[in-house]
Amino acid sequence: MVPAMGGARARIADRLAGFGTSIFTEITGLALAHGAVNLGQGFPDFDGPGWIKDAATRAMAAGHHQYPRMFGVPELNRAIAAQYSRRGGPTFDPEREVTVTTGCTEAICCAFLGLLNPGDEVVLFQPFFDIYRAATALSGVTPRFVTLRPPAPGSGSGFWFDPEELRSAFSSRTRAIVVNTPHNPTGKVFTREELGLIADLCVRHDAVAVTDEVYEHLFYDPGVEHVFMATLPGMRERTLTLSSIGKTFSVTGWKIGWAAGPADLTGAVRAAHQFVTFSSTTPMQHAAAEALERGHGAIAALRSDLGSRRDELARILGHAGFVPHHAPSGYFIMADLGGLPFADDREACRRLPAEYGVAAIPPSVFYDDPGLGSRMVRFAFCKRRETIEEAGRRLAGLRR
Ligand code: GLN
Repeated sequence: MVPAMGGARARIADRLAGFGTSIFTEITGLALAHGAVNLGQGFPDFDGPGWIKDAATRAMAAGHHQYPRMFGVPELNRAIAAQYSRRGGPTFDPEREVTVTTGCTEAICCAFLGLLNPGDEVVLFQPFFDIYRAATALSGVTPRFVTLRPPAPGSGSGFWFDPEELRSAFSSRTRAIVVNTPHNPTGKVFTREELGLIADLCVRHDAVAVTDEVYEHLFYDPGVEHVFMATLPGMRERTLTLSSIGKTFSVTGWKIGWAAGPADLTGAVRAAHQFVTFSSTTPMQHAAAEALERGHGAIAALRSDLGSRRDELARILGHAGFVPHHAPSGYFIMADLGGLPFADDREACRRLPAEYGVAAIPPSVFYDDPGLGSRMVRFAFCKRRETIEEAGRRLAGLRR
């Protein structure tokens, strides 16, 4: 595949040397090289709503071009706190408890750097969004893994974990757990009961829950609800709630995210953030505030569009010979290789762009034990209908 970081590799510090190039960069590169339909990296190939783009243009014209306040422009801090209150979520003091970051990715990194000491332990569910694993390396903490296990292919039920495995991942050194709900790459929405189990362990071990809720609005099945970890008993004082506007408004390149939580936890995030980026782009923060205040209609429309694209992609994958796992939420379908003639996910994702013109992500990179992900491929459905239909025409070739 694409060489890792070119000739720069020899100079990379030990703590990052094992990571190579991010899979998203690698697969997007392969897609471009082969002119493949890119169902790899999770970004929409359509723009967010016009009025949100107009808000950004207006913010630029209004002269918002200098450094903003380190922890966010006041309008955005207020809009973030207000939308949680409106939705029955946790309540936050916008000044003391909300920190605007450069995407949720920076919030994750700053939460690790600001809260944890080398030698501390953090619990991660695998498969994990690759950035969590890298954040443990950057901060020198030790990850402990709990596996989300796929249901029997075709059963229609969801990824699950063994509560006993979760319990034994916690130790006297555990300082935090990352809870990504809705979950990338499986689309799992953690239930209130599952979150309750995690909450009990956090309370018992005095650990912090760092949540990544960037897909919080994107769930597609009736009866599914997004539960805020910070609203569970005993959790307000020990949860850092992270999210962003990228997925909610189809503007993943704006890179506006946040961390919200009690002042001691927010303070730890700010301690890192002030030296990592100091602040995030000023005009985009103003536009993000407007999006959060006026965006309900746009969110409902996106949810309905993406729900039907999920269904269409699942149908296409099934027709091509994959066995797609049901994805209740998010941007992605994890599909079992079924009887397709690929040795593993790596081989499938190398051959799919070259031979069938469709790019996808090999999920083994999201596991500490790569073997656990090697029989699946991750496909993104956050794409235009035409893009998904074109992928369908190309993947139909697999049948032959
Ligand atoms: N969240 C996106 C995905 O899962 C990728 C983000 C990135 O490229 N770092 O595909």
